[in-house]
Amino acid sequence: MIDSIKKMFSSSESGGYNDGSKPDISREKSTQLYEKAKQYFPGGVNSPVRAFKSVHGAPLFIEKGDGCRIWDADGNEFIDFCCSWGPLILGHNHEKVRESVTEALQNGLSFGAPTVLENELAELILQNNRYLEKIRFVSSGTEAVMSAIRLARGYTKKDKIIKFEGCYHGHSDSLLVKAGSGLVTFGETSSAGVPKSFADETIVIPLNDKDAIEDAFGQFKDQVAAVIIEGIPANNGLLIQEQEYVEYLRKITTENNALLIFDEVITGFRLGFEGAAAYYDIQPDIITYGKIIGGGMPVGAYGASSDIMSYISPDGGVYQAGTLSGNPIAMAAGIAQLTVLKNGVYKSLNSKTKDFVEALRRFVAAKNYKVKIFSVGSIFWIAFTDQEQIRAASDIDPASMEKYKVMHRELLNRGIYFGPSGYEVGFVSSAHTKTDLEKTKRAIFESLEVVFR
Ligand SMILES: *Cc1c(COP(=O)(O)O)cnc(C)c1O
Repeated sequence: MIDSIKKMFSSSESGGYNDGSKPDISREKSTQLYEKAKQYFPGGVNSPVRAFKSVHGAPLFIEKGDGCRIWDADGNEFIDFCCSWGPLILGHNHEKVRESVTEALQNGLSFGAPTVLENELAELILQNNRYLEKIRFVSSGTEAVMSAIRLARGYTKKDKIIKFEGCYHGHSDSLLVKAGSGLVTFGETSSAGVPKSFADETIVIPLNDKDAIEDAFGQFKDQVAAVIIEGIPANNGLLIQEQEYVEYLRKITTENNALLIFDEVITGFRLGFEGAAAYYDIQPDIITYGKIIGGGMPVGAYGASSDIMSYISPDGGVYQAGTLSGNPIAMAAGIAQLTVLKNGVYKSLNSKTKDFVEALRRFVAAKNYKVKIFSVGSIFWIAFTDQEQIRAASDIDPASMEKYKVMHRELLNRGIYFGPSGYEVGFVSSAHTKTDLEKTKRAIFESLEVVFR
């Protein structure tokens, strides 16, 4: 009730609906739940990105998902392009994943001892990936990357890590570091609670800049254990790197006896079964996975050659463990999802996404909107810019995020759910049909008309 009165006021304040904007959907229940959640959790959430801080209104509490659709506590229905931030490449509640999990559930939830399901998931991955010989399962992307960094340090007996501005690698201490001032500097912590001495071990440089990495290797000669990059940076907009640049990273790391780590927590099993390694056909030294690998359950993994992996305990001296690592229910979800993927999903998924993205591009070009749609595989990013390419974080104009905020609200009001920040990419799943994408296109067209009115 109160909501609908507020709605009337806010819409009449903004000149009614004749600017093309739609009345807000009801968020009465979500708002109540959020108020409660704020009593329990910092900021009302268990992961900060969920808090809708940079878009309109209270976060929606989701009750269920099926295919490409989700429903919130108020009964609103959405076509979902967040897809749990990437894991749900087959959509929500996929029959095969559900059946596999249900079957595994009958035998108990966890043993803390090996199970055949771990072998099955490992076999499925290793036999279909030219870039890996051995793997270790963990429970999140953060854990996978944190362990990969320790492995790189243990293997090379060096301490420093080079990371790129605009790449996210989870929330472990060494990686919550942002660029300091100057081209090549020690990083500065990007979170309170990270000791400066930790940040001193991480060098942060811009993407797409060969001079910067050359300088970094020059300045920290024989100290760099690894260079870590996202397969395709997709956590701060979609910063697609050129083949030649990634090849250069491979070359300069080899020359300096440093490892090249591909963080494929998003791109793994997304760009194709073999992820960004195959997309570039570049052999990284260590690859990390998360998101899709667990079919919606908490799974991460890191893998490398048998030689590098032999440094991990109990074979080697790099310690890494996990009570719930290789959890049978999570393995069952991963096995089901990756089996479907291996049997062929990418071709139609990627071409469906391409058609969708090209239609959006034609629309914004015809309208002369300052909007670009960047895309690779089934990932897309709508950027409010007129730059033809955005390859580095500093090329993104923070002021453009205001436009995203307006679009996000309009899209929700038209039944389309995007990630709650303009820095987030969208994911198309195999469950999005042509009809769903048609509906989405129309909603985006209308929403952009409101943004630019
Ligand atoms: C999501 C993500 C992580 C962190 O994974 P969590 O499962 O959230 O810990 C790490 N690296 C990349 C590239 C990611 O996208």
